Amino acid sequence: MGGPTAPDSSWRGNLNVSYNIGPGFAGSYSVRKVRMHIHTHSKITRIYNVIGTISGAEEPDRYIILGGHRDSWVFGGIDPTTGAAVLQEVARSFGKMVMEGWRPKRTIIFASWDAEEFGLLGSTEWAEENAKVLQERAVAYINTDSSIEGNYTLRVDCSPLLYKLVYNLTEEIASPDEGYEGKSLYESWLEKDPSTESKSRPRINKLGSGSDFEAYFQRLGITSGRARYTKNRRADKFSNYPVYHTVYETFELVEQFYDPTFTKQLTVAQLRGGLVYELADSQVIPFNCQDYGEALRKYTNRIYNLSKKHEEQVETYRVSFGPLFSAVTNFTEAAADFHRRLKEVDVNNPIAVRIMNDQLMFVERAFIDPLGLPGRKFYRHIVFAPSSHNKYAGESFPGIYDAMFDIENKVDQHKAWEEVKRQISIAAFTVQAAAGTLKDVV
Ligand SMILES: [Zn+2]
Repeated sequence: MGGPTAPDSSWRGNLNVSYNIGPGFAGSYSVRKVRMHIHTHSKITRIYNVIGTISGAEEPDRYIILGGHRDSWVFGGIDPTTGAAVLQEVARSFGKMVMEGWRPKRTIIFASWDAEEFGLLGSTEWAEENAKVLQERAVAYINTDSSIEGNYTLRVDCSPLLYKLVYNLTEEIASPDEGYEGKSLYESWLEKDPSTESKSRPRINKLGSGSDFEAYFQRLGITSGRARYTKNRRADKFSNYPVYHTVYETFELVEQFYDPTFTKQLTVAQLRGGLVYELADSQVIPFNCQDYGEALRKYTNRIYNLSKKHEEQVETYRVSFGPLFSAVTNFTEAAADFHRRLKEVDVNNPIAVRIMNDQLMFVERAFIDPLGLPGRKFYRHIVFAPSSHNKYAGESFPGIYDAMFDIENKVDQHKAWEEVKRQISIAAFTVQAAAGTLKDVV
């Protein structure tokens, strides 16, 4: 490859053909057909999930899971070893604290998944086997797949419930970036990747899929998050790093080019470990429901604006986003009131604290529709799903979005718009129901 940077479009091999590294095909190649001969082995084989637990001292029936895969396509220098190393280091440092007499308030589960690359198999099997217990007891799931896919800045994808905690933690962690000595991770992250809507906050993305948090977040409704070092999204249009999943993903690649001092991986370990620590040991679960309300408002505005492209049909078929907007307003008010009450909770009354912690734990679960999304019964989160067009990316209000996608080309317009209306009611009902779970119980 000739150096530490990605090959640019001037890179050529020695074959007598015109080279193009995409994305997409160049010129006449776009219409060509290719016959591929695929040789695979069909066999039944054993996989191993390795699970380690630190029992909670006060609430052993509340779980924080740190999980990531261990299997790789070839050597797995980046994917997953830079993440599996973080899992082991976090487990080692928590183990050291346990040896010194520390116990977290809640139970911490460390999970090293197998067979992620074969369809998230290990993590999904464990989620299915333990689904009932996890639905009742899991507070959060933090994913620990690859901790670097570049070395420019931080990338976080998580539930809105975790935004505040992520921002607070990154203010406490030192930036590993060159030229940011003495500054916080938050500062370098904000400067390099501010959010599109409000430049005063670093960008945080929606959760999609493509890794082991899927069954926990999209199916069971357990609050989830992931964090890693990434490339400069403005300079690099490729969706992943150049050698992703190839034989060139070696330890040497990481050691010589991506993270020679291993400080980026240390930073990611501090953040992932910090998330687990705070979630497991804070008296009040550090979730913020008001950020969820704001996110719901943003997603509702977005989907409403998309519908404006079809103003005539929206009128003809009497499509209204009113119920969804009012459900979001109710959620926002319930969330504000909840956090007002949370500030006044009697911290010396363990039952009072537990009542509010349970409301916090279950608010994500309230966005689960047991029937699932149309044609995707295992994606049951009404607010988030992997995009139907790119499984790695997240989509908001996926039921409504998919119903409106390419709607102008649907033959039966009446039926298509009835489906949009049905999806709006499902979303409105679910958001309203979630708001109900935040109300004062007395
Ligand atoms: Zn992979």
